[in-house]
Amino acid sequence: MILGTIFGRIKASRKGLFERNGCTGTEIYTHVLCSARASDARGFLVERPETELDPVSACSLCRWSDRCAEQWEAEDSLALVAGISRSQRQKLEAAGVTTMAGLAAQHDRVPRMTMETLRRLVSQARLQSARRAGGPPSFELRDAEPGKGFGMLPPPDECDVFYDIEGDPYFPDGLEYLHGVWYCEDKDWKFRAFWAHTREEEGRATANLLAFLVERMQRYPNAHIFHYANYEIAALRRLTAQHRTGEAAMDQLQRERRFVDLFRVVSGAMVASEKGYSIKDLEAFYMDKRATDVATAGASAVFYEEWRNTHVKQHPIFNAE
Ligand code: SF4
Repeated sequence: MILGTIFGRIKASRKGLFERNGCTGTEIYTHVLCSARASDARGFLVERPETELDPVSACSLCRWSDRCAEQWEAEDSLALVAGISRSQRQKLEAAGVTTMAGLAAQHDRVPRMTMETLRRLVSQARLQSARRAGGPPSFELRDAEPGKGFGMLPPPDECDVFYDIEGDPYFPDGLEYLHGVWYCEDKDWKFRAFWAHTREEEGRATANLLAFLVERMQRYPNAHIFHYANYEIAALRRLTAQHRTGEAAMDQLQRERRFVDLFRVVSGAMVASEKGYSIKDLEAFYMDKRATDVATAGASAVFYEEWRNTHVKQHPIFNAE
């Protein structure tokens, strides 16, 4: 948010100056950004404009995340409401609803917000508030709709595959260092890992994973590949294009609708009392708190990066579930 305030001051006049010097779009952007960084950062430090903590997707990797979380907790901020968007927060704040407790008690209409959205957000705030006050995990089912929530689930098949991916954003240009699949073979549940510690290995791991998935789907025509949230699919599409491998296999799996996004199933089917809808958040409903140090996706990236720098083979990343 603070960086947004600084960079938001980029002046059109500077852009014009670079355009007149014949720079390309990318060069203009870089020049303007550097220029804005230098002078506006100085201006920002002198003027000290009002800022507010506004959660973004990068918060989980930010060094200030504990500090921001403390402040949101202290303020009972709307930012804590799981699944709320920035525009929804702004509409609620404009209507005078500024805390989670206030939202939990909201009955009146909120301008420019549908009643369905408001009902979901009020339920979310109510369940989450009770949980934060020390209550047990709880959930409410949303109204069933064809093709949404549980309606997205195919019939279970004993040959289904459960797939997850881990990436390291600190690796130059990022590295998808692990694909993991959990599947049943001869009535025995097995885990198979496809590791990659270099760019070349990343391509090989992608090809091997897709070969495994295609072969399994051919053998078991009713099986599906379950994953959580869209990252896996976006990453596979990017990896197949980048490494020029497995594009036809990926097309085939998508054409056959083999992938099932369990995040969309869960978030469309219920409102849950947890602080978010990540798979780690929802573990509260079906398992004890993890004892391992590698308890979140952010932590696994940090541990992996630490291992890359030290190459300590006994690192807890290799014992993570
Ligand atoms: S945790 Fe999020 S809101 Fe807080 S400073 Fe970092 S990026 Fe900004």
